[in-house]
Amino acid sequence: MKKIFVFLVAVMILLSSVSLAEDLSSLSDDDLMELYLRVTEEMADRGMTAEETPETSGDTVLYYHPDGGQYYHADQNCLSVHEKYLPLSGKFLYSELENEAYRDLRPCNVCGAPARREDRLLTVNFSDAVDAAALVSVREETDYLAAVMEKDGKYIRVVTLPDDRTRQLYMDLMTADDPGEAYEAYHSYAWSLPVSYVEEITAQPKEQAELDALAGKTVGELEKEGYEIYGSGGGTGLPTTVDLTYGFFDYEFEADASFEEYRDLDDLGSLKLKNGKLSGFSPYASDLDYLADGTYEPEVVPNITAEEAEAADHAPPFEEYTRDAWPLTAEGYSDLLGNMEARYGQVYVVEGVVHQVLSPNPLRVVINTGEDGKSQPVVVRCPEQSGFSWETGSFCRVYADVSSACYILPVLTARYTFTAPDENNNEWGTGE
Ligand SMILES: [Zn+2]
Repeated sequence: MKKIFVFLVAVMILLSSVSLAEDLSSLSDDDLMELYLRVTEEMADRGMTAEETPETSGDTVLYYHPDGGQYYHADQNCLSVHEKYLPLSGKFLYSELENEAYRDLRPCNVCGAPARREDRLLTVNFSDAVDAAALVSVREETDYLAAVMEKDGKYIRVVTLPDDRTRQLYMDLMTADDPGEAYEAYHSYAWSLPVSYVEEITAQPKEQAELDALAGKTVGELEKEGYEIYGSGGGTGLPTTVDLTYGFFDYEFEADASFEEYRDLDDLGSLKLKNGKLSGFSPYASDLDYLADGTYEPEVVPNITAEEAEAADHAPPFEEYTRDAWPLTAEGYSDLLGNMEARYGQVYVVEGVVHQVLSPNPLRVVINTGEDGKSQPVVVRCPEQSGFSWETGSFCRVYADVSSACYILPVLTARYTFTAPDENNNEWGTGE
């Protein structure tokens, strides 16, 4: 049973069915076997065998105007470009999009230039984002859903922020008489929510050469170097393996021991290792308390005094409040992400499309502030008495100050707002 259990734990981590994993210790062998079969079935259903969604080929030719063009185009004679620049003289391949020279160009919607692969994840729901990846690890928490995956040699973290209903379903799951049914209700709803933001993981796994150099060391020695054991396995006629975690990644090592030697061991520390290889993401990679570079930094909430909180509830008059408001340009947005704490209290003009309603009362929404309506997400919360009401897809212009952070996303508190059915017809909203 041990081997199945070890496999099961690995699969649990892979699928991160948290609620099930917590109860494992109380289950009988028969229950475990049944779970094992269910999980195996689910893995098969989970698109591990499904076809990949069609991707843009790396050798697709794209066009741009080399002297100051901000967009890249699929059509060399794109209608959106002034005819004196046509046909566009700049040319490069889709696979070169991340090169220094083209990195800041945006896809043209007029001629339907293909989006960057990771940007495309911003327009799909969590479930589709997970299905599109071959190697993926998922975490479900009350505060977020996160999936880490490999895409074109990059490691990417995809995050969905749950709304009120998801949280309710999650809490129901914790106390349900029938956890299977409750999990299904939670799962199918939560995974249909849109992706809130995508970030690239900059922490890198160990190089194979580095792993090769560990041959001959014992498990105990590797533990001293910071590796953690998360599983082991073996069987008659099978190699003995030890699974170790280091940072965001898991590694499977083959041990220099027969099954009999392994079976009779009290602890794994003395096992000598032969060779190791990268085997997947560790649970830390999908834990948002770890930043993309692997450093541990639990969500930072600003330390606000009672006086400051009081003052914050009484926004200054419109003229005064908006006088020094900063626009959220691309530069302004990346400055804000990089200096969140230093920007607490700063007033911004937030313009964009409501991407997701997190809670109706008090109203909390994700607004995409990028020109393309898909990028630069921020969370905007509205004081309870504000009377603001926005729906998914509506355009709004808000004067708001930075008040906290929701993982990497800045949270701004709205004080004054314009709402409009479309960008060209701004009307006064409901004021403060
Ligand atoms: Zn175009």
